[in-house]
Amino acid sequence: MYDRSTRWHDAPGAYPDPAVVQTDPRFADLILPFATIERIAGGCRWTEGPVWFGDQRCLVWSDIPNNRMMKWDEQSGDVSVWRRPSNNANGGTRDTMGRLVTCEHLTRRVTRTEHDGSITVLADAFEGRRLNSPNDVTVAPDGSLWFTDPTYGILGDYEGRRADPEIATAVYRIDPDGGEPTRMVTGPVQPNGLCFSPDGATFYLVDTGVRPGLIYAYPHEDGTLGEPRRFCVMEGGSSDGIACDAVGNVWAAAQGDDGYRGVHVFAPDGTDIGRLLLPEQCSNVEFGGPLRNRLFMTASQSVYSLFVNVTGA
Ligand code: MG
Repeated sequence: MYDRSTRWHDAPGAYPDPAVVQTDPRFADLILPFATIERIAGGCRWTEGPVWFGDQRCLVWSDIPNNRMMKWDEQSGDVSVWRRPSNNANGGTRDTMGRLVTCEHLTRRVTRTEHDGSITVLADAFEGRRLNSPNDVTVAPDGSLWFTDPTYGILGDYEGRRADPEIATAVYRIDPDGGEPTRMVTGPVQPNGLCFSPDGATFYLVDTGVRPGLIYAYPHEDGTLGEPRRFCVMEGGSSDGIACDAVGNVWAAAQGDDGYRGVHVFAPDGTDIGRLLLPEQCSNVEFGGPLRNRLFMTASQSVYSLFVNVTGA
């Protein structure tokens, strides 16, 4: 396997980047032969939750064990602390009004950061029982917020605080008008990454509680889900965070051995069409940049990026 370990800080990459691996001809349309994977930040313990702020031209992400959120400035390349403490924040997104929505492990809740900086709690319980540890969140076509609630944040004292679960793991929906969350999915052992297809007709959900890891596809219409099917099997390990591009491919964080870890790209029919190999376990992905054609990847202690030939959904 190609060893990238010394490449990140010094030499410009080889073109095409040998860490960008095509496994199906359809991948060729999505990548740029003269773009290479760049490491844009390091020094964290477990990066997650990348969120692009177009109006500020920056990427914000979570460094969960360090109880902080970090910021990378696109214009200067500077990395700084964006929020501390973060309540062991994990996944995030921006709602239809551009406000940051954050999953917090320590406080076991989903919050929204208002434009004035104040924090609004969107969900912290279901039917009177505390959530486990909200992990990741996405916006549905109708503006509702969907989040996953596995137990990772309460399994120990590293990414949250150890506690016994009060409720089953699940996926919830928060109406655009707020109010109590609605439970949408139970069954997957550890529901984790999630996203909608660009047309909203499919809801994708990662289960990281089984090996190999699975990604399910649910028919979706008007806030209602149909029966799931297995979209793909992560034979070499597991996924985590996922995102769709504008033409419906699923870009999935991949965790496993060297040569597997990174990002795997799946066509809408579930075929593995290409991989971005990283030297660290990848936790999540986000399309950003002024043209939304730059993929950001949070991976263990670092953040990586790659310009691609497609935009985010
Ligand atoms: Mg996750």
